[in-house]
Amino acid sequence: MSILAAVSRRNDRLLHLKSLNFTGSVAAPLDGLEYDRGRGWANYPLGAAWALEKNGIAVCGADIVFQGDIPPGSGLSSSAAIEVLMMKLLLAVSGRTIEKKEIPILCRQAENEFIGVKSGIMDQFIITFGRENHALFLNCANLEYRLIPFRNADEAVVIVGDTNVKRELAKSAYNQRVAECAEGVRLLKELTGKRDITTLGSVDKEEFDACRGKLPGPVGRRCGHVISENRRVLDAVDALERGHLPELGRLLRESHASLRDLYEVSCGELDCMVEAFLRSPAVYGARMTGAGFGGSAIALVKADSGEEVIERARRTYKEKTGIDGSFHVCRIADGAGKLTTQIA
Ligand code: ADP
Ligand code: MG
Repeated sequence: MSILAAVSRRNDRLLHLKSLNFTGSVAAPLDGLEYDRGRGWANYPLGAAWALEKNGIAVCGADIVFQGDIPPGSGLSSSAAIEVLMMKLLLAVSGRTIEKKEIPILCRQAENEFIGVKSGIMDQFIITFGRENHALFLNCANLEYRLIPFRNADEAVVIVGDTNVKRELAKSAYNQRVAECAEGVRLLKELTGKRDITTLGSVDKEEFDACRGKLPGPVGRRCGHVISENRRVLDAVDALERGHLPELGRLLRESHASLRDLYEVSCGELDCMVEAFLRSPAVYGARMTGAGFGGSAIALVKADSGEEVIERARRTYKEKTGIDGSFHVCRIADGAGKLTTQIA
């Protein structure tokens, strides 16, 4: 799944953007860019232009047309895809280069400050650095990363099940979770007396268990999720390296339970989608993905059983919710890059 774009350079400082997935087109000057509701979808690519300019990387104007098959707002990060794409396009037509790690950093800044969603950096990072048939192990605290070969690429596929439910709540609840985790860091620092606690990733499980009773209920649950999820990520790296699909599946199932019960970002439809997947014996595991409250779940599935699993999940999900889900069989592809150098 991807977004494609064609771009040509302009000799002025105007951005002229069109998306074949949306109606109308948007013209915006590079000078004085700010979020503008009236510009709708175009705020995401414009945010990427804004972030470059704000960081002193002057670019030139461009005519750009986009077309994608990542369903927007389904928890599959179409926003990060269009941000990274836009940034790479502008750098290319302007003949400028920046350090590759700056791309996800600046795209995140666009999402945080221009759009106003306090998202993390994972999505922009994998879209920049992803490699075919590899997972990416990222430490968000220092941006060190490692590509882990997915040794089971012939045996397993990822199936995305889109609940086709979208909730506005997702954005405000997302920001609220970020605030609750920050409060957790502050309190844990105070309670343990350890000043080197700067992120939940720097708290170990024993330390947390000793303090948990003193944290307000929701803060304790949010921190409990993040701290246990970090552990599951390390275990997942190990399972990937050993090519152990059942273990990876177990971690996905536990991760979903934690997102549902501790982080409280799932919803009835997402739980139903995960359960619908888990009814098939060919499914190793499943969990929700993205910000939650709707959007998509993913399942790790035996490669030759994809269609069968989808049919069963489709039926079960429809029976329980009355909604038609959408399903996609996915393989792990390369991150954003140039497809062809020049047309005519
Ligand atoms: P997601 O979970 O897909 O990231 P967001 O709400 O964060 O959902 O971002 C979706 C937004 O990204 C869309 O509203 C639109 O502004 C932009 N977008 C995504 N795909 C496209 C596309 N193909 N063309 C134009 N804009 C797109
Ligand atoms: Mg998004």
